Amino acid sequence: MTDSVRVIPIECKFGPTSAYAYYIDAPEPALIDTGVASSASQEIESVLADNGIRIEGIRWILLTHGHVDHLGGARAVWEKTGGRAEIVIPKKEARLLRDRNEHVVDYEGLQGKYVAPEIQEKHKAILVNDIGEGIEPSMEVVEGDKLSLGDGISITVVETPGHSIGSVTFVLDGLDWAFAADAVQVYGGAKSGIPTIEEPGLYRQSLQRLLQEVRPKRLYLGHHFQVAGGEVISPIVEEEQVSIVLQESLELDAKLAEVVGRHLSGNATSGENDSLYGPFASIAEEISYTGDPRNLPCAFFVTMNGYRKELAALQKK
Ligand SMILES: [Zn+2]
Repeated sequence: MTDSVRVIPIECKFGPTSAYAYYIDAPEPALIDTGVASSASQEIESVLADNGIRIEGIRWILLTHGHVDHLGGARAVWEKTGGRAEIVIPKKEARLLRDRNEHVVDYEGLQGKYVAPEIQEKHKAILVNDIGEGIEPSMEVVEGDKLSLGDGISITVVETPGHSIGSVTFVLDGLDWAFAADAVQVYGGAKSGIPTIEEPGLYRQSLQRLLQEVRPKRLYLGHHFQVAGGEVISPIVEEEQVSIVLQESLELDAKLAEVVGRHLSGNATSGENDSLYGPFASIAEEISYTGDPRNLPCAFFVTMNGYRKELAALQKK
């Protein structure tokens, strides 16, 4: 247990947006998430150098989940440490670290099917370019696993799936600082304007658990998210703001489930159509979503796909 630990946020560029990595200053320093393949040289190394820290010294690379903007730089960071860092990833998403083609498979199932073939090809090329070559994880973690960073500083793994199927939150023991990254989406990314939720049922449960059981004193998020009023908040959320952010995340989830249920009940498994928003045009209109779903990453299709799947499963029962 410890009184305080220095954490350095590192904003990594990703297309028109960005993703946060966090350096934890411990005897065995850890980097939580890694941006994309170019982030190691472009941002991580220089931000650490500005703080008098050498990237070579990182001993743990902790990945909250397998999305390209969090895992894409893992191999490049690992190489900068001379292969000495341990790479840790949730067990359910280790395949995404081993083989970047798995990202293309996921892309096709979650959003690719809603866009034209030529856009799909463009997206797949971007994905492969932003992810380093595959690498074997040192450790595949599950709920309750503990990692020691030395000098009494330790981390507990809490499974918080939903944003992706295997997302985890790394909690700094004693301080109750939770590195949740994308497990908490509030009202969605500042640029995307809608949360990214692959599995709404799991997402809901994870938020409830964070709110009632884990009760972090501080949240470290993966992006600049917006809140209910449209304001964009800091990715580091403190004290009483934590429960507000969690409650607002649940609030938007409930709204999305209701709207999708109302628009798609009766044809939750219906096919695609020609609108820019695929089979979800009337939903986009109701929630005032005006983003361009032909951009990558497209939270809109991933999330609509998730709620539609949940609705179809409910209707089967
Ligand atoms: Zn993500």
